[in-house]
Amino acid sequence: MTSGQDKNRQRVKQLLRKPGNDFCADCGAAEPEWASYTLGVFVCQSCSGLHRNIAQISKVKSVLLDPWRPSEVEFMDSVGNDAARAKYEEQVPAFYYRPTHKDCMLLREQWIRAKYERMEFINVEKQEPYSAGYREGFLWKRGRDNGQYLSRKFILSEREGVLKYFNKNDAREPKAIMKFHNVNACFQPAKIGTAHGLQITYLKDNSTRNIFVYHEDGKEMVDWYNAIRAARFHYLQVAFPVASVSEVSACTHRSGETKKKIAQYRPS
Ligand SMILES: [Zn+2]
Repeated sequence: MTSGQDKNRQRVKQLLRKPGNDFCADCGAAEPEWASYTLGVFVCQSCSGLHRNIAQISKVKSVLLDPWRPSEVEFMDSVGNDAARAKYEEQVPAFYYRPTHKDCMLLREQWIRAKYERMEFINVEKQEPYSAGYREGFLWKRGRDNGQYLSRKFILSEREGVLKYFNKNDAREPKAIMKFHNVNACFQPAKIGTAHGLQITYLKDNSTRNIFVYHEDGKEMVDWYNAIRAARFHYLQVAFPVASVSEVSACTHRSGETKKKIAQYRPS
């Protein structure tokens, strides 16, 4: 029996050498040593922890430490990371942010849930919350003076080319209007002090402004983030029609760093 288990484990270990299985199926980290034996993917330790949050569809095991059944090994062999990616990531929109192992827990967890639990990249209708071009809802926004978080209504409108928020629910005039071409967003959980904390940067009167927001619900927060990316992506596509989709996508991704670089060169 022990030698049989050793053999099974050796076979699973060998599957790690197959192209595609040598990097985590979800975050791209090298040399994954865990596997979801119900989904057929090899993942890193950190992502295996996130798979445990969707235990109803993903069951994880250590390739090196846990016992393996022949049927489980067969299943891992028949799927693997490349085939699973072709299925679960079939229709990831170009603007959608694919997290890496360096990204915060929230982005990685929602990516795994979006892929396997909600199957958003198999059913395009499920992408509506961030791809429709319009989004309205409440976010907790940090007050500028006292740092206290207050609920604020936000509206993102691709038609108007803006993201805006209102200080009072019935206010006619928005407190701030952020134009897509100079809006950027990135998750800053440590800096903001909340796991879902998003920093939104924009230009107003030629100076950089920051607002800090969060939503208790992880999906809501990441949907907002991808809705901003989608709006910006579509804006850039219209503004720079010659650029290929991949160039525009990279531009959306990098703009934060570019801005940082520009700021560094600014004379003090
Ligand atoms: Zn991973």
